[in-house]
Order: sequence, then structure tokens, then C-alpha cells
Amino acid sequence: MIAELHAHSNNSDGRDSVKNLITSAIEKGIEAISITDHNTIGGSLEAMELVEDEHLPILVIPGVEISTRDGHLLAYGITDDIDSGMGMENTAREVRKNGGVSVVAHPFQIHKSGVTSLSRIIRFIEAVEVFNAKFYIGLCNKFSRYIARKFNKPEIAGSDAHTVDALGHGITLLYNANDVESALKDIRYGFTGVIGYRIPISLQLKTSMRGIWGGVVGRY
Ligand SMILES: [Zn+2]
Ligand SMILES: [Zn+2]
Repeated sequence: MIAELHAHSNNSDGRDSVKNLITSAIEKGIEAISITDHNTIGGSLEAMELVEDEHLPILVIPGVEISTRDGHLLAYGITDDIDSGMGMENTAREVRKNGGVSVVAHPFQIHKSGVTSLSRIIRFIEAVEVFNAKFYIGLCNKFSRYIARKFNKPEIAGSDAHTVDALGHGITLLYNANDVESALKDIRYGFTGVIGYRIPISLQLKTSMRGIWGGVVGRY
């Protein structure tokens, strides 16, 4: 399955509604999506309901991007919120207890709350986002991949999309997935492929400027 595993809706700091994200993802040929809003599973729940009600041809993998003391953690497969502000170890433990999979988001991207000491954290998490399409410097992605391989951790990609236009820049191929359970297994056991295109700077600036001038974006 062609999966977009990192997208924000207007439930957190994204520009677009869940409905617009889902519609655009289907148009782009994305087969599975996770709406990973900051510290709220609300966008995912909304997406699951929408897809079920309207019988839309896309799989929704519930997800959230949790702010931990050590940086951002993507959690997939949970349907209840987990407190932000804990250490990554405890957060990952909670995710697992709730049947989810934890993936460290955009490591080394310091200004975006990426984990910086990945080799300390890596034991507690199950996979690494080795391609984040928002990266200004590809070096962070390269180093994330190096660490993932060194510690033999599964790899995923994410667009970190904050608008519909950014969807599909960081794609994860889930080789055996046909439902949520099998998608989570693919991430957990590394049956994944990563395809990435950096989001064009013009698009990226549009969202960054909105963050700066809009005054509506909280600190995550
Ligand atoms: Zn993040
Ligand atoms: Zn994000």
C-alpha cells in the first residue's frame, strides 16, 4: 500500500480540514493515510468516521504526533490520547500498552523538536522516520537513516504535510498491509519502503509564514 503517515489537519496546526486531506490523498493515489495531529487523536477519529460513512477508498491508520520531553514521537494504532510532556521512554511504553507502534519523528531537526540523542532513545521506540519531506537540510534525514540501520530499526517516511499540496512527498510503502492491523505489523517489523521528495521551498514557506504571522499556531 502507498501510505502517507505524517499529515496535520486543522485539528492542530495544519491548514486544511480532514475532509480536504482525505479527498486530496485519494486523488493523489494514496491508499492509506494517518492524520497525525499534535497531541490529539481527534483528526484521526474524524477521518475514520468520514471514510466509513462515505465508503471512501482509503485506509485510515489512526495516529498522533506526541510532544515528549525528548522530542516528537509519532504513534500509530492508538485511539485514545496519551499525555504530552513525558519522557520518550514512558510515552513509548504507554503507546505500546495501548496496542500502538511508536516511531521517532524527524530526528535531529532541532528547531522542530526532533530528538537529538537518538542513540539513547532508539531502544524504546520501534521505528524511525528516516525521511521527513519538510527537512531543510537533507543531512538530518541521512543521519536518521544511518542510525536506523545501525540499530536495525524499521524505516518510514512522512510528508509532515500541513496543507493538502504537501501530501505525498514522503511516502511509505507498506508491503503486506490491507487493514490497520497489517499496516501496524509492516511498520513494526520493517516491511516498508521509503520514497521521498522534498516539499518545494515555495510551499514550505507558505506554511511557515502562516505559522509566524497567523498567531494561531501554538507551540508544539
Ligand atoms: Zn514534529
Ligand atoms: Zn508533524
